[in-house]
Amino acid sequence: MINSSAQYSKNVPKFSNSEEHNSEGRDNYHPRDNWQVAQVLEYFNMPFNDLIFKASQIHRQFHNPNEVQISTLLSIKTGGCPENCKYCPQSAHYDTGLEKQGLMPTKKIVESAKNAQKAGATRFCMGAAWRSLHDRDVEKICEIVEAVKATGMETCMTLGMLSQKQSQKLKEAGLDYYNHNIDSSEEFYSEIISTRNFEDRLNTLKNVRESGMSVCSGGIVGMGESREDRAKMLIVLANLPKQPESVPINMLVRVKGTPLENIAPLDQFEFIRTIAIARIMMPKSKVRLSAGREEMNEQTQALCFFAGANSIFYGEKLLTTGNPDCKRDQELFSKLGIVAQN
Ligand code: SF4
Repeated sequence: MINSSAQYSKNVPKFSNSEEHNSEGRDNYHPRDNWQVAQVLEYFNMPFNDLIFKASQIHRQFHNPNEVQISTLLSIKTGGCPENCKYCPQSAHYDTGLEKQGLMPTKKIVESAKNAQKAGATRFCMGAAWRSLHDRDVEKICEIVEAVKATGMETCMTLGMLSQKQSQKLKEAGLDYYNHNIDSSEEFYSEIISTRNFEDRLNTLKNVRESGMSVCSGGIVGMGESREDRAKMLIVLANLPKQPESVPINMLVRVKGTPLENIAPLDQFEFIRTIAIARIMMPKSKVRLSAGREEMNEQTQALCFFAGANSIFYGEKLLTTGNPDCKRDQELFSKLGIVAQN
């Protein structure tokens, strides 16, 4: 189990006095929402050390730099998705050898949630490979939310597109977060997915936000997009009427059988830069180091934490792709003096 901050609080450096003094300001702070491409590219072009130092300074104003929030992600309905996202092994358009599974029984989901909680996770995320939530499944999904919520964990779901009414129902059932990634820039979007458009993503984000749920939205880098696309993706997120509470930044996992299996990997320094700039642009959000951690060494992950990442997925699987095993994460946290956020 990853140690909680309560258990190890004496080892966690306190914010400096001046930062404590600012804590009230942190709550009232309104992040800027008028980011322009040229400004964000300036950050991308900064010397690496200057950039991560700046990001780390901002990170420390809003977060404890030695705490990381832990989420666990479970696939509750796997494969056979009608969408054609080029990065995804769950798409029915590609032969990746993935075994399809229908919606998991609630009892089994709750069992997994309890195990994740024992291992130190505070949020339980559930993903279903659907284009959108069908009205016929809403009741069942609400039952799952209520049952997982009863464990005392925060709940998060990712089920594809949601209507306004469905968002309301999920909120009423107690769902805390809804994940819906914008994936990439609007310009690059059609290179990766043609079964829906960028506007569809934004509509769901609007429905989720208006229902009162917290928003989890980020994207994937390393799909062959340009630096400008990465900048534009961050701008869409940062310029939303309210910035997402969680911003997962995923490094593409090049899964065999998907159209992106042979794409050249993104340089890891560019990935760290993307994390740092997400932190600068969205100072209050949790920036989540998501897919792709399995292929990152400890040093890369440590730099990501320094640059402002403060949330990870914990557990052996991320929906259907690999994730570092829990023991490896515990060792890394212990080497870095990082504790799990309560
Ligand atoms: S990313 Fe989601 S919507 Fe796209 S194919 Fe995979 S499961 Fe379906």
